[in-house]
Amino acid sequence: MIELDDRLRVLRRSAREWGEELRELGEGLDRDPGNTGDLAGATGVRYISRMMIPPEFQGAALRQSGYTFHGNTALERVVAVEELGRGDAGAFLAAPGPSLSGGIVALLGDEVQQRWFFEHFAAEPVWTFFGLTEPDHGSDASAMRTTLAPAADGDGAVLTGEKRYVGSAARARLGTVFARTGPGPLGISAAMVETGAAGFHAEPLPTIGLRGAQICAVRFDEVPVPEDRVLGRHLPASSRGMHAATRMFNQFRPGVAALALGIAQAAYDYLDHHRADLVRGSDEALASLADQLVSTRQLVWRAAVCVDKDPSQGSLASAAKARSTGLAEQLTLQALELLGPGARFSHPLPEKLARDARGVEFMEGTTHMQRLNVAQGLINGRIA
Ligand SMILES: Cc1cc2nc3c(=O)[nH]c(=O)nc-3n(C[C@H](O)[C@H](O)[C@H](O)COP(=O)(O)OP(=O)(O)OC[C@H]3O[C@@H](n4cnc5c(N)ncnc54)[C@H](O)[C@@H]3O)c2cc1C
Repeated sequence: MIELDDRLRVLRRSAREWGEELRELGEGLDRDPGNTGDLAGATGVRYISRMMIPPEFQGAALRQSGYTFHGNTALERVVAVEELGRGDAGAFLAAPGPSLSGGIVALLGDEVQQRWFFEHFAAEPVWTFFGLTEPDHGSDASAMRTTLAPAADGDGAVLTGEKRYVGSAARARLGTVFARTGPGPLGISAAMVETGAAGFHAEPLPTIGLRGAQICAVRFDEVPVPEDRVLGRHLPASSRGMHAATRMFNQFRPGVAALALGIAQAAYDYLDHHRADLVRGSDEALASLADQLVSTRQLVWRAAVCVDKDPSQGSLASAAKARSTGLAEQLTLQALELLGPGARFSHPLPEKLARDARGVEFMEGTTHMQRLNVAQGLINGRIA
């Protein structure tokens, strides 16, 4: 059983308050995902927007009750993200910050590249995007077709292709893109791209769940990429591309699990608050759901501790993501049943939570893909 220390208990309490602010903002973002104007003032957004910035680039640290928070361990992130997602997962995903791109730049950028990227966040909130998924290659990202090829005039490279379901791309200033530089698994690289570059196009897609994420279709029409924006050039080919993406996803995935757990907890809170309105015989169901929340939280914390020790070990993170997404879907749908006929019309919050839970299922790999990871972990003896 993992117990949080005093520092993380302080963070959990603070994040619960920040989440309440996000709840209000989330309703507006669900109506209009382009409406991010009010986010900048929210304290939780200050935390989120620094989360993937290495401490040496963060400037003044966020402090609460004498403790400093950099969001640079998976355990710290899952504790905060659950509470922020309990407030509103869509608003969490709508927040500015380096997000997944920060993780990739921290892993693959040399010192000059890291400085260039992370200095964007020093003065004001800046949105980023992370371009990996393609229209026909979602779960099988390594089948990507987007290319990063030497420019005809010999000056840098050009990016050509399409990405799909890319969060915040239409409001981002910069981001990272994975593209093919050659055949095979080693022929994939990541590059930093500014959205103001010629040939960059991003269009929001119509969505039902997690609308705050504003996922987009992105097109690159021969976008020029200066040579010094290609990441990982100082590393062996085996450490770049999909190898780095896998390592980064392992570190980030417990956070996605925590986001799902936050949605599940929010649905439970709602049921608990409306006990008097529930259909007959609900008490037993609520007791079982409360137990499942506690055990799933332990799994998410364990997964975070595991990737903090060794970021190459992602099997437990996959198990945590599959389990917490399953619980979020089950609990939000069950909430609508327990609230009785017509609940989708008369209870807007659980109705939204059910839509958002389905969205998390697709983020960072579906449950099928997580199960494949877990199976490989078992076969290779990485988990017992
Ligand atoms: C809210 C949200 C935010 C996102 N943000 C980003 C982002 O910022 N950047 C980005 O690049 N992408 C992003 N994505 C995309 C996400 O990573 C993909 O949706 C995900 O990888 C699945 O790909 P797909 O949607 O093409 O589904 P597909 O891969 O087409 O899968 C469809 C179905 O087939 C199943 N399936 C596929 N392959 C297998 C297999 N081998 N075995 C068993 N079942 C299989 C899947 O489980 C799923 O049920 C986001 C998605 C969402 C919903």
